[in-house]
Amino acid sequence: MARVQIVGAGVAGFTLTRELIQRGYRGEIVLCDPQGLPYDRPPLSKALRREHFMPASWYAEHGVHLRTEAINDPALPEAADEWLVLATGSRAKKLTVPGAEHALSLHTADEAELIARRLDQGMFAMPVAVIGAGLVGAEFASAARQAGAQVTLFSASSAPLARVLGEEMARELHAAHRRNGVACVDAAVTEVGPDYVVAAGQRHEAALIVAAVGAEADTTVAEGLGLAVDDGILVDDAQRVIGQRQVLAIGDAARRVDHPRAVHWEAAMDDAAIAAAVITGQPAPSRKIDWFWSDRHDAHVEVVGDFSRASSHISRLGRRGNLEAVFGLDSAGNLVAASMVDGGLLSKALRRLMDAGVSPTAEQLADPSVGPRELAKAGRS
Ligand SMILES: Cc1cc2nc3c(=O)[nH]c(=O)nc-3n(C[C@H](O)[C@H](O)[C@H](O)COP(=O)(O)OP(=O)(O)OC[C@H]3O[C@@H](n4cnc5c(N)ncnc54)[C@H](O)[C@@H]3O)c2cc1C
Repeated sequence: MARVQIVGAGVAGFTLTRELIQRGYRGEIVLCDPQGLPYDRPPLSKALRREHFMPASWYAEHGVHLRTEAINDPALPEAADEWLVLATGSRAKKLTVPGAEHALSLHTADEAELIARRLDQGMFAMPVAVIGAGLVGAEFASAARQAGAQVTLFSASSAPLARVLGEEMARELHAAHRRNGVACVDAAVTEVGPDYVVAAGQRHEAALIVAAVGAEADTTVAEGLGLAVDDGILVDDAQRVIGQRQVLAIGDAARRVDHPRAVHWEAAMDDAAIAAAVITGQPAPSRKIDWFWSDRHDAHVEVVGDFSRASSHISRLGRRGNLEAVFGLDSAGNLVAASMVDGGLLSKALRRLMDAGVSPTAEQLADPSVGPRELAKAGRS
């Protein structure tokens, strides 16, 4: 019988399941994850809350076999209508300083719920140390501050995420922590204790310590199967694992050959839609330009494209002198990346332009009177 076995039920594994159903796939779908009913990760660091994609009844209704178990050595498909899809995602990197075991990690729903309980049980203005000011660390620092904690954020850099947001935006957003009552220590943490953190030789008291020092692809299953792995399971443009016909890899765990590994929600959804098309033999949707968002304090931050491809930047200031957007241009002057604060319409216009391979001019990008609608038109002229 035709069968798809999906290992991992994060947004990639879940979206593949939904896409297969929507595309009328008639075979058996087996979705396995030891974490149980699939849930969405972004709300974990913003609200410390578990949000399921669908209730258990949805899977039953559509005949999906949802298995709460880890599959560590799945069989490689033998028949022409059998597929194995690895959607094993990423896992939190470990802090490696003395006493690191005293810091909690924030990557799974169980970890988010444990941290939420500790915050609830703590006194008002509980001293909280957050180690790492990347996307997850910055969002959690903001959520803890909003919950009334006295937060100290430790970052080895004063512009964390510069390669992701563009240097100017990274600096601005990091500085915004201080304006929102978060104490920032821009120095590497060298030691952690049960109720303290040491950085730059200074000891900082903390009743709760959370480490968010990045994530890495979880390739354990792929490596066990002897599949091609290099900072992610190596796949082609159709998400096929290199050298395999019926083994696909999607989401954070996968990396397309000659591309950086995409580690965002939207990219995982794109991978899943392409994989579903491959399995059902339908035309694959085109891959969209990279896009992700992050919420911290009162700012909704969006990033389109890839700043690692930019050789120069243009900043756009708002009427009050605030930094609204940073644009990254390649050496030929084409727009390859943009980061913006509360710029929903701008982000939409730029995504559309970049998906179409069209670039506004540097002058248009620099001119704050050229709004999203004009930019979209400008790009066409
Ligand atoms: C706290 C947090 C906040 C985030 N916020 C944002 C955001 O605001 N915007 C954004 O764009 N992105 C955000 N991300 C990133 C985004 O969530 C990921 O890019 C996305 O989850 C990737 O989906 P995935 O399905 O590939 O992997 P994952 O979500 O990591 O899911 C992989 C699943 O595979 C399972 N698994 C692993 N090994 C096995 C095995 N052997 N057998 C069975 N199952 C297995 C794991 O249990 C896990 O559930 C955030 C991530 C985190 C951790």
